Formats: sequence, C-alpha cells, structure tokens
Amino acid sequence: MPRFVIQQHAATSMHWDFRLEVDGTFKSWAVPKGPSTDPRDKRLAMAVDDHSLSWGDFEGVIPEGEYGAGPVIVWDRGTYENLREEPMGEALEAGHASFWLDGQKLRGGWSLRRTGERRWLLVKRRDEEADARRRPTSTQPESVVSGRTIEEVRKRG
Ligand code: MN
Repeated sequence: MPRFVIQQHAATSMHWDFRLEVDGTFKSWAVPKGPSTDPRDKRLAMAVDDHSLSWGDFEGVIPEGEYGAGPVIVWDRGTYENLREEPMGEALEAGHASFWLDGQKLRGGWSLRRTGERRWLLVKRRDEEADARRRPTSTQPESVVSGRTIEEVRKRG
C-alpha cells in the first residue's frame, strides 16, 4: 500500500504538510488549518514541490536561513487506498483525487479537488469515520513518532 504522512510545520506560519506517496515520490500540499474530520470543512491545501520519500520520516528543526526554517513533527502517518478507478497520478493530474487514509490518527475517506493553479481543497468524505467534533489537530497534537509536540521540538531541537 502507498504511504501518506502529515508533518506539522511551524515555519513563517503554522501549517500541516500533507503528503501522498505517488509513483515513488511524496506529492505534497501545505494545509494552513490542518485536516478536519468534519465533512463541512473545506480546508485550503496549497500544492508545493514533491518531496522525497525519506523526507517523510523527518522530525526536528530546519535551521535558520534554510527554506522552511522552524520545527517539524510527524503528526500522522500510515497507508492509503485510492478510491477512484484511475491511477492516483492521473487523478491528481485531472485535479480530483479520493482516497481512504489508514493512519494512527486519521481514518476514512478524504477528497482533494483543485480549484486554482496551486489551490486545492482537502475535504473529509461523508462516511462512518466522519466526526464534526473530533478536531484532532487540537486534541491530538503529539508526534506519532516521538510523542512530542511541535513546541517541545522547537525548544529542545
Ligand atoms: Mn512545510
């Protein structure tokens, strides 16, 4: 199964980097508010450069002066299943993907839909895993790798 990872990243502004393994690389989006388990929330997801699969394991502080300087934690990770007929790469080229996440925090169907050159919307699908009240970015802030919060990583590296 292909992997997904969500890295919380306190750069110039806080965001959650949402990455899907597609054809040997991590297709990536920066989600300023993070993923929501409420199907009514349409979360802006800005497409950013592909990242190597090895970057998905990174947790620590990107040094001052480097692009994206600031702390990063692995907020969630796991595998996903493409819910559409066409291969994931083609679905993303066409601007609409639908997938089932099987992570440590997030489960269920999500969709990604392109609405502008780099603008996409990440939305929870209406299924048994949808939950309007869960707010996992607030209630489960810790890294799934180390148990640390992004502020702990910021202070101690
Ligand atoms: Mn980032």
